[in-house]
Parts: sequence; structure tokens; C-alpha cells
Amino acid sequence: MIPATTFKGKMVALFGLGGSGLVTAKALMAGGADVTAWDDNEKSVANARAEGVPCHDLRQADWSQFASFVLSPGVPLTHPEPHWTVKIAKAHGVEIIGDIEIFCRERRLLKQKTPFVAITGTNGKSTTTALIAHLYRTLGFQVEMGGNIGVPVLALAPPAPERVHVIELSTFQIDLTPTLDPYIGVLLNLTPDHIDRHGTMERYAAIKERMVAQSDIAVIALDDPYTFAIAERLRKAGKPGTSVSMNNPAISDGVTIDGSRLVRKVAGRAMTIADLAGIASLRGKHNAQNAAAAVAALGAHGFNHELVQKGLSTFPGLAHRMEQVGKRGRVLFVNDSKATNADAAEKALMSFRDIYWIAGGKAKEGGIAPLKPLFDRIAKAYLIGAATDDFARTLDGLVAYERCGTIDNAVVAAARDAAASAAPEPVVLLSPACASYDQFANFEQRGEAFRAAVAALPGA
Ligand code: ADP
Repeated sequence: MIPATTFKGKMVALFGLGGSGLVTAKALMAGGADVTAWDDNEKSVANARAEGVPCHDLRQADWSQFASFVLSPGVPLTHPEPHWTVKIAKAHGVEIIGDIEIFCRERRLLKQKTPFVAITGTNGKSTTTALIAHLYRTLGFQVEMGGNIGVPVLALAPPAPERVHVIELSTFQIDLTPTLDPYIGVLLNLTPDHIDRHGTMERYAAIKERMVAQSDIAVIALDDPYTFAIAERLRKAGKPGTSVSMNNPAISDGVTIDGSRLVRKVAGRAMTIADLAGIASLRGKHNAQNAAAAVAALGAHGFNHELVQKGLSTFPGLAHRMEQVGKRGRVLFVNDSKATNADAAEKALMSFRDIYWIAGGKAKEGGIAPLKPLFDRIAKAYLIGAATDDFARTLDGLVAYERCGTIDNAVVAAARDAAASAAPEPVVLLSPACASYDQFANFEQRGEAFRAAVAALPGA
């Protein structure tokens, strides 16, 4: 736990008592702050009270006494509409911040700047965060990993010169961190996503840009027009940084990809850092982007190419993201339950051939129509959940399919067909292109159901 000592003796209001909110309340109390916490959810309030956190309805509080208001990142700050607490805080001129801001203030108390790598982007944040943490560990560093990836930042060990904090940041978290100043800021990509929660694409991009602009060193992947424009602006402003790309563009300095090789370019000269061929946890072009960014985030430590290759090769990957969960004979079983929309499923379909595809659930707008260009990679589709009829209509006449209802049925049918195929390495792929809520509590449970169904196949 990191005690929030910069709030000692101050009165602080806090809203949102989920996992990170509760930790933040305790960190503030441990630092000597006088906390008043609240949540719209009665259970969260009861739970926080049981843990010793003073809870009072913030509607009845005297806001003129508060030095700061700490908000959970899941609670709307701006869109679709500011939460009622935000309106009160603004009316009283109370600063609105999140737990990452508290972390940054604690870090700045130290004489020496400690290693702090922050990662953001529309997609690939968690994978890249986990990979950077794994690479730093392979290089022999003490690593603390947290933020949006799971462990609340204030639950980690405090900043220290010998300790690298690798922190995944969502746009909401950046928006609540006015003085965000990582040593290395990594921006992966920017595509429209949850724009309803950010207002406009321009606003969404501006929030992400602030993170790299305020970092000492900016690592930016140049593969989409938004990140490209940001990198150009920062370069013109003289910001030190490294450009990365999953393609092999005509950049003269940075980390790019050539075939399966990760290449460092210095003044136009290319030097191979590592080879991604055969690394199951880093399959696909999108993971080449993640790997290039991760290696760039090592700064000068990344020049130890032998250890970088070792780190990449031993990266276990994250559960539910193109995760290899089993093999029966030639048939590979891949759990990509995290692919809750067509965009994410596209990445998985692009990474394999001879695919026995398990798809369906609660469909997103547009369904699987955008995936048509990849249909020739699919040997057969196995449809589950509420999206079955909708997906069947899109597949009709283009791809063979079977209505399976549940994941269990789908795994059995797909395993049977894959085993009978003549392909050298057929893949049974769960990449549903749907939310899971029609049959499961979340995508993790769906992935676990897939894993269990694979384990239950004969020959396990
Ligand atoms: P996030 O934390 O940003 O949601 P994850 O690392 O959890 O991202 O990956 C989620 C999904 O996003 C993956 O299953 C994959 O389909 C896709 N993805 C991963 N990395 C990238 C990338 N660099 N570019 C585009 N899509 C990606």
C-alpha cells in the first residue's frame, strides 16, 4: 500500500467504493487525510464501513471544507453527463482527481525520479503492460504492475529508485490525473471506441495525447492517423521519444517490424533486436505493435538483445486473449473470449488459418459483417447464444455453420470436425465477436467455460 501522505491533515471527499475506491480511501486514511466516502451502491457503502472507512452521503456534506474530491474512474466525469458529485465539486471549486494523481504526487516527493512507465491506447493496453512488466523482470528489475489492468495503483509497493512501476491507464484515469508525469509514456493506437463516454473522437484523442506530452519520454506507435499526428506534434515541439510501428515504414529512428523480426533503426540503419516467430503469446500483427512498443519502453535497457529475446520468448500472454489452452493431436484450441466485438475477433481470425470458429453471444451493432473478407480462413462456424440467427444470416452461402447453443456443444462439434480435417494445424478458436452477458457474467467466465470444455474432451 502507498500511504497518500500528500493529503495529510486535509479533508478529502471520495466517491466510488469499488475495488480501487476502497484501496484509495484506505491509502488516504493511512496518509493522515480526513476522508468522507460515498457510493450510490448501498452494498459498497456497507462494505467500506465494515472496513473502517467513514461514509456519509456527500449530498449532505459541507463541500467548502474539502481540499480535494477523489473520483473512481468508472464514474462519469464528463459524458454522457457529469455525475452529481462532479457537479457539486465543480460548483464549490474543489479539484477532481483519481488514484493515479495521488500516486504521481507521492512519487514527486522523492528526491530522485523513479522509473514509471504508463501505457495507454484503444487496444492492446493490458497485453503491452504485462509484456513490459515481464521484460523488465527478465532484465532483473523489481516490478510493480497495476492500474487499469487490475491491481489498484495505491495497493502496490511505493515508488523507489530500484523499482519499476508499469501502469496501464484508461482514458478515464488520465482524465483524472492532471499532473500525470510518467518517465516513459506509451501510446499504442487510437480508434473510435466508447466515444459516447468521451464526447468526441477529438476529445478522446486529446486526453490520450496529454499522457505522452507530459511524459519525459514518449513512445508512440505511428500506425494510425491520430497517433501519427500526435507524434508529429510532439516531435516538432522537441519532445524526446521513440517511434514504433508494426509495419516497416520509412522511419529512420525507432522500433519496427520486418517480417517476424523486431528491428531497431538508428539514423536509418537497421539492426535486428529479436524474432517473434514461433512465440505463441505474441501471434498476429497487432501483437507485433505491442512488442515493438514494449521493447521501446525499455529505453537503453532494451539494447541487451539476448535478454529481450528471452523475455519475449517466455512471455506467458494474458488469459482470454488468443490464449492457447490445449492441443489434441494436430488441433490447437485458442481462447480469445476477450474479443467482444468484430474488431477484436478480426485480429484473431487474421492470426490463424483453417479455423473452426466458435462465435456468438450478445451481438454488437453491425454483427460479423465486417469480418467477411476473412471468411476464407474459416473452415466452419459454430454458433452460440443470442446472436445465432443474426450471425447465421451473415454466414449463409459463404461459410458452413452449425447452431450449437452452448459453448460445451460447440467445443465438441468443432473438435470433432477439426480432428477430421486434412489441415496441418487446424484451430478451434473461441473469438465470439459478442458480449457474453446472454449466457455468462463476463468474458472471463465464458473463457473459463471454454477451457473446461476443452479439458473435458476425450484424450485430455
Ligand atoms: P486492452 O487492455 O486495451 O483492452 P488487451 O491487451 O486486453 O487490450 O487486448 C484485447 C484485444 O484487443 C485482443 O484480444 C486483441 O483482439 C486486440 N488487440 C490487442 N493488441 C492490439 C493492438 N496493438 N492493436 C489492435 N488490437 C489489439
